[in-house]
Amino acid sequence: MFKTIDFKKYTSINIGGKYKVKVIDQIDDYNGYKIIGKGNNLLISNTPPKMAILGEEFDYILQKSGKLIVGAATTSGKLLTYCKKNNIANFELLAKLPGNMGGLVKMNAGLKKWEIFNHLYSITTQDGILLKQDIEYTYRDTKIDGIIFEIIFNIELGFDINLQKEFISMRDNQPNLPSAGSCFKNPKEHSAGYLIEKVGLKGYSIGGMAFSSLHANFLVNMGGGTFDEATKLIKLATQRVKDEFNILLELEIQIL
Ligand SMILES: Cc1cc2nc3c(=O)[nH]c(=O)nc-3n(C[C@H](O)[C@H](O)[C@H](O)COP(=O)(O)OP(=O)(O)OC[C@H]3O[C@@H](n4cnc5c(N)ncnc54)[C@H](O)[C@@H]3O)c2cc1C
Repeated sequence: MFKTIDFKKYTSINIGGKYKVKVIDQIDDYNGYKIIGKGNNLLISNTPPKMAILGEEFDYILQKSGKLIVGAATTSGKLLTYCKKNNIANFELLAKLPGNMGGLVKMNAGLKKWEIFNHLYSITTQDGILLKQDIEYTYRDTKIDGIIFEIIFNIELGFDINLQKEFISMRDNQPNLPSAGSCFKNPKEHSAGYLIEKVGLKGYSIGGMAFSSLHANFLVNMGGGTFDEATKLIKLATQRVKDEFNILLELEIQIL
């Protein structure tokens, strides 16, 4: 089955055309398709690859033998609510961290030292079950090949409401305008936001796109922003930071 998605509405940065997307309803090898989640980390180009999304069959949460079994199409918000209700710890970081669990695991999403991989047990892809110790992962990146269909986490009891509040307050400096989260990964030496500010691009805009004046590492859509404007800003920041600091900024946003 296919459905047409208007990416301008679907993605959090409000950029992209209308494309037919394959809806996946069973585990198989979908070679040739780029899997997408909820579009919170995506910048859709003018020529995207063939794309697929997981259907509602992959939206579930179960508990079995001390493990939490989660379908990869489950949203972070749904899992957070479930963990709060069932007094399960270590998922407080999902507060205001938008996406599907498949996207969050693929990106090893997180905030500071809290990352999705911290309490992961295994994932299921088209190649079967992969245990955490057999997966290569690092800060905001994994080497997971293909599609994640299911994720299993270890369960510890004790949901911490204060920690959830702390995560929400850590986001106080994030802009409300449409964005795809952090544009660049933070290099070891300095945060990407600091570097963008230091090269004079905090609040700088091209057409409808800008590096936010609230948080320079957020590439925001002020209205009607386009892929070409976004990539011009990305190139400009990369070049200036390279010239002035000799640091190569690496994109966190996924360009398709
Ligand atoms: C306001 C805002 C704040 C944010 N804050 C944070 C933050 O604090 N920390 C953080 O880490 N991120 C943050 N993000 C980015 C985003 O929330 C994460 O990257 C999240 O993991 C994206 O999930 P998604 O389902 O939207 O994935 P998409 O954006 O749809 O896809 C992201 C990547 O995951 C892959 N993918 C998606 N589903 C699957 C699957 N089932 N199997 C394999 N690969 C898959 C895609 O191919 C793509 O490469 C923020 C975004 C916004 C808009």
